[in-house]
Amino acid sequence: MRIAVIGAGIAGLVAACGLQRDGHEVIVYEQRDHPGADGAGLTLFGNAFDALTAVGLSETVKSVSSGAIATMHAGQRAPDGSWLLTLPRASVATLRSAHRVALHNALVAQLAADTLRSGTTAHVATNGAPNISTHGVSEEFDLVIVADGLRSKNRERLGLETGLSYAGYTAWRGVTTTPVEIDNAAGETWGRGAIFGIVPLPDNRLYWFGTLTTEADRVFADERQVVHDIFGAWHAPIPACLAATPAENIMRHDVYELAKPLASFTLGRTALLGDAAHAMTPNLGQGAGQGIEDAVTLTMLLRGVDGNDLGGVLERYSKLRRQRTTALWRQSRWMGRIAQASGPLTAGIRDFGMRMTPGRIAGLASHQLQSWNQPG
Ligand SMILES: Cc1cc2nc3c(=O)[nH]c(=O)nc-3n(C[C@H](O)[C@H](O)[C@H](O)COP(=O)(O)OP(=O)(O)OC[C@H]3O[C@@H](n4cnc5c(N)ncnc54)[C@H](O)[C@@H]3O)c2cc1C
Repeated sequence: MRIAVIGAGIAGLVAACGLQRDGHEVIVYEQRDHPGADGAGLTLFGNAFDALTAVGLSETVKSVSSGAIATMHAGQRAPDGSWLLTLPRASVATLRSAHRVALHNALVAQLAADTLRSGTTAHVATNGAPNISTHGVSEEFDLVIVADGLRSKNRERLGLETGLSYAGYTAWRGVTTTPVEIDNAAGETWGRGAIFGIVPLPDNRLYWFGTLTTEADRVFADERQVVHDIFGAWHAPIPACLAATPAENIMRHDVYELAKPLASFTLGRTALLGDAAHAMTPNLGQGAGQGIEDAVTLTMLLRGVDGNDLGGVLERYSKLRRQRTTALWRQSRWMGRIAQASGPLTAGIRDFGMRMTPGRIAGLASHQLQSWNQPG
C-alpha cells in the first residue's frame, strides 16, 4: 500500500519504520525544517518495548536508552528525602530512559533514504479521503496516518476535535552536563503542588523534571532561578542536579491534555495516532508509549490486508486503541490531580496514604499499565 504519515514525532516515526519494513511505500511529512524532538528525556515501559519488538525496533531503541533505573531504589519521596512509597523491582524491571534527540535520530536512521520530507506541512482531506495537500498540491495514497501531535490541525480538519484542556500545572525539563551522584536512587519527589523527578540517561547524564501547580501562560523572568527557588532546598541530589544543568538545557511547557477522548481515531481512510489521538498528562509516563502501541497495532492489523479490506481494519484499530488509551487518559488525569495536590490537608492525606500503601499493591497497578495486548 502507499501510505502517507503526517508528523515525524515518535509515534509517526515508529509507524513509518514498521510499515516500511512490512513492504509498504511510505512518505513522512514533517513541517519542521530540521525535525527533532522537543524535550529532554523520556521513559518507556515494557509495553512500549513489547510493541517495538513486534516491528523489529526494540534493539534500536534499547541501543540509545538506559535500563539503569531497573537496578535502583525507585518510587516517591518527600522533599526531606524520606520515602513515601518504594516500588518493587518488578515494576521498574522493564523501564528504560532515553534522551529524546537520540531516540528521534535512531528512528529516523531506520527509514529508507528519501522517506522523510522535512519542511512540509501536510493537510488531510476533510472527508477522510486518502489525499493530502502540501504546498497547494494534492497527492493520493491508499491510507493517510495523522501523527501531528497534541495541537493537531488535521484532527480539527477531520471534524474529530474535542478541544484541549490545561492540566493545571507547568513543567520544566532539564538534562545535566556534569556528573551528579544519585546514590542508586531515582524517581519522583512529591511536595505541595510541585514534583521533581530524576531519571538516569545513557552517558552518565541525568534527565530531570520539575512541575508547579499554577495558572497557564505564566511568565517567569528567569526560569533557572525559579526552579532553584522551588526545588533548591529539597533533598540531595536535587540541588546538585540543578547546579549541573546550564540554563540553555532547561525548557518549560504548560501541560495540556485532550479535553475529552475522541469519538473515533479514524475517518474514511485516515487514521490518527499518538498525541493527535489521545494526548494525556505525563503523570503515568505513557504518552509516547501509547503512541508506539498505536503505531504497532495499526502496522500489525494491516499485515496481509489489501486496500479493499481497509474499512474493517481501521474500525478495529479505532476500537482497540480507544479502549486502551481512554482508560489511561483518565487514570493519568486522576494521578495528576493527586500528585499536584497543593493544599496542606490534601497533600498530607495523599502522603499518609502513600506511606501506608505496600509497594506490591502499587506494583499491581503498574502491571496493567505495562501490558500491551497484541492484536490477535
Ligand atoms: C513534561 C512531559 C513529560 C513527558 N514524559 C513522557 C515519558 O516519560 N514517557 C512517555 O511515554 N511520554 C511522555 N510524555 C508524552 C510524550 O512526550 C508525547 O506523548 C509524545 O512525544 C507524542 O509523540 P507524537 O509523535 O504523537 O507527537 P509529537 O512528538 O508532538 O510529534 C508531532 C510531529 O508532527 C509535526 N507536525 C504537526 N503538524 C504537522 C503538519 N500539518 N504537517 C507535517 N508535520 C506536522 C510536528 O512538527 C511534530 O514533529 C511527556 C510529555 C510531557 C509534556
